[in-house]
Formats: sequence, C-alpha cells, structure tokens
Amino acid sequence: MLKEYYPVTIIGAGPAGLSVAYELQTHGVNYIAFEASGNVGNTFVAMTERTTYGPWINNVLRGTTWEPWGKFYNLLGRTTRKEYTAYLNDYASRHRLEIRKECPVDQVEWTGSRFRVKTPQGNLECGAVVNCAGYFSRPSIPDYPGAKESAIRQIHSAAYRSPATAGVQIGKDRGRILVVGKKLSAGETLAELVAAGFEVAISHRSPIDYWPEIWRESMLSPLLWLEELIRRKFDLGRPGHLIPRMRKSEHSKSLDSGETPTFPDIAKFEKDAVVFQDGRKEHFDLVIYATGYQCNLDHLQGLQLPSIQEGSPAVRRLESLELANLFFVGLIGGRSFRSEFLRGIREDAQLVGEIIAERVRFAPIPAALESVRPQQLTH
Ligand SMILES: Cc1cc2nc3c(=O)[nH]c(=O)nc-3n(C[C@H](O)[C@H](O)[C@H](O)COP(=O)(O)OP(=O)(O)OC[C@H]3O[C@@H](n4cnc5c(N)ncnc54)[C@H](O)[C@@H]3O)c2cc1C
Repeated sequence: MLKEYYPVTIIGAGPAGLSVAYELQTHGVNYIAFEASGNVGNTFVAMTERTTYGPWINNVLRGTTWEPWGKFYNLLGRTTRKEYTAYLNDYASRHRLEIRKECPVDQVEWTGSRFRVKTPQGNLECGAVVNCAGYFSRPSIPDYPGAKESAIRQIHSAAYRSPATAGVQIGKDRGRILVVGKKLSAGETLAELVAAGFEVAISHRSPIDYWPEIWRESMLSPLLWLEELIRRKFDLGRPGHLIPRMRKSEHSKSLDSGETPTFPDIAKFEKDAVVFQDGRKEHFDLVIYATGYQCNLDHLQGLQLPSIQEGSPAVRRLESLELANLFFVGLIGGRSFRSEFLRGIREDAQLVGEIIAERVRFAPIPAALESVRPQQLTH
C-alpha cells in the first residue's frame, strides 16, 4: 500500500539506493525509492555473464543476515554477478523496502520550499532527495570520424552479454571483433570472446597496466586494505589498486601469446574498415567499445544548480553545497575515493541516513503527495 506521504525520495535502486532505503527505514523515516528499470540492482543484471567482483566482505550491505548467501567463509570468496543480483533482490524483499520499479524520475525541481519529483506515474513533493542513480546509466562512446556512416556494427560493452549474443549480432559464431579499451570490461570481454573462438583485437590509447592475479591480490589484500584506511583517514587520495585494469593472466593470456593483436587509437572508420592512428587498416565484423560510462544527471537539471549543470555535483558530507537536503550516494569522489565502491557506499548510506533522520526528528522535513495516480503507484 502507498504510505501517506514520503519526506524522502530516493532515485535509483542499486546498492546505494537500497542501502539508503534500509538506513532510513531503520531510523523510522518514510521514503520512496524510484527505479527506472524493472530490476533491483539493474547495473549488475546488465553486466556480462562472467563478471566477478571483489570479496563478499567488501560488498555486503549493512543489514545483511547470513542465511541468504551461505557460510561465513564466503566473505573472503569473490562475488559473482549472478549471486550479487540474487543477493540484492533478496535484500530488498527481506527488508520490504519501498521501491517503485519501472518508474524513472524524469525531473526534480525546487519549488522554493520543497522538491517536486516528476515521474511517469505521477508527481510528488518531498523535503529531501537522495540521488543514487549511479554512474553506469549513460555508456560513453568516442566520436570517431566516419563511425556513424560505417557498415561495421558497433556496440558498447553495456550491450554485450556473451559470445553467443555477439555471434547473433554478426550473424555467425566466428568472426573478427575489435575491443576498444584496456580496462576491466575490455579484459573480461576479450578473454570471453577468445575462449569462444572469436578472432579478437584490441585498440588502446596508452600502455596496458594489469592488476595482479587473484591469488596474489588475495595475499596482498590485508596490506591493501590497510593502505586504503590510512589514505582515507589522511585524505591521501586514491590508491593505485583502485584504478580499474585488466587482470594479469585471467585477461592477458592471448595478449602475452600474441594471439590478440593490439592497435593504437582509431583514426577513422571507412565503410567496411577501421583505420588506426599508425595507418593500419583492418576489417572487423563487430566493434565493442569498452570505453566506460558518463554520470547521468539529466533528471536533476530542473534544479538549475551550476555544479550539476557542469556534470560534477559540489558536495560536502554527501550533501549539495548549493541546495540543502539534496544528497548523493555512489558519487565518484563523494566523501572519499571509496564512495564509488560498494564498501564506501554502505558507509556513506549510513551517514546520509543519520543526517536525514536527525533533521526529520528535530525539524520535520515537509512532504506532500501531489498529483499521484494511486492505482499505478501501488505495488
Ligand atoms: C565490470 C565492473 C566491475 C565492478 N567491480 C566492482 C567491485 O569489485 N567492487 C565494487 O565495489 N564495485 C565494483 N564495480 C562498481 C559497482 O558497479 C558500483 O560500485 C555500484 O554499481 C554502484 O551502485 P549504485 O547503486 O551507486 O549505482 P548502480 O548500481 O548503477 O544503480 C543505479 C540505479 O539507478 C537507476 N537509475 C538511473 N537513473 C534513474 C532515474 N532517473 N530514475 C530512477 N532510477 C534511475 C539505474 O537503473 C540503476 O538501477 C564494478 C563495476 C563494473 C562495471
């Protein structure tokens, strides 16, 4: 059932949105979370099959109980994509979090005393907004000359699922694929396609760096963990191990053996060929851009805040410096270099929960439903 009113609106139901919802619920603060897609944790649903994340100990959210995902030793095991999406779903339903799926926030405006949140299912007014829309909403693709006119099929890694679906896209189960990029997504895509028998090449602008093998990283992890805590405490900036890279041996085998040729940056596309900066010209059946994402703040442009218009919200303790009661969780560099990672998100969500709860307690945040269509906004 729809609650009477929602002092707080959460935008997005990824790990950040779910964590903030949990914290507010724990403090007894009414909220509603809007999720654009039909899934909780949609960013993880959409990643490639073989994606794995760091150990569970880094990724479990506050309020997790042991039963749903196994025994304690899993805490040190790597998290698979499938397990993590199941875990997030379980987390949302166990805590009965108030989420409206398939309901994107189209725009947020400031009325002078409240936020007006506009969605396809109706508008509502609230006293605080927590933006948890993530930084994977808008795939970033370089604008190469001739790319749009070329007959070569091009997709972003966000649209790549598995070698089988790549095969469907080019109409055959073998072919030449160019992966553009040199970081984690490029490495995962490359390794998967090579293993499936595709002829893969890589185009990258600067030298490829590697993370160590998983076993080596696991042995180093207590030291890396310590380095992170020291750097965060003394504000020393992001440690090198948090810069995304391919993983040695897991992703580099075909590069080391020479099976995967490497090319410099693309100079231009022709009708059925790619021309590289060094003048080489090659035909590919498919180009996959593993070229990252851009933060999507379109839905906050109605607030007309300069730093949001520039694409980089100015915050202190995760709250906008330009408009009180507007918070950001999951923002790159939000509170520290950890803020974009799951282990930072759970700490940041706790802080935002505490700040909002305190404000609600001592100076109630106003809220009112405006033109909501209840038949659509109910579960
Ligand atoms: C290959 C890869 C590996 C990674 N490995 C790790 C790792 O090992 N450890 C780690 O900590 N992190 C890792 N990350 C980063 C991890 O994905 C992020 O930390 C996490 O997704 C951030 O959660 P979030 O809730 O902030 O954003 P997201 O998970 O992106 O969730 C944002 C949600 O907001 C929704 N949304 C967007 N706009 C709107 C709108 N206008 N209205 C309503 N809803 C909206 C989206 O649909 C989405 O569901 C990895 C990322 C990649 C790509």
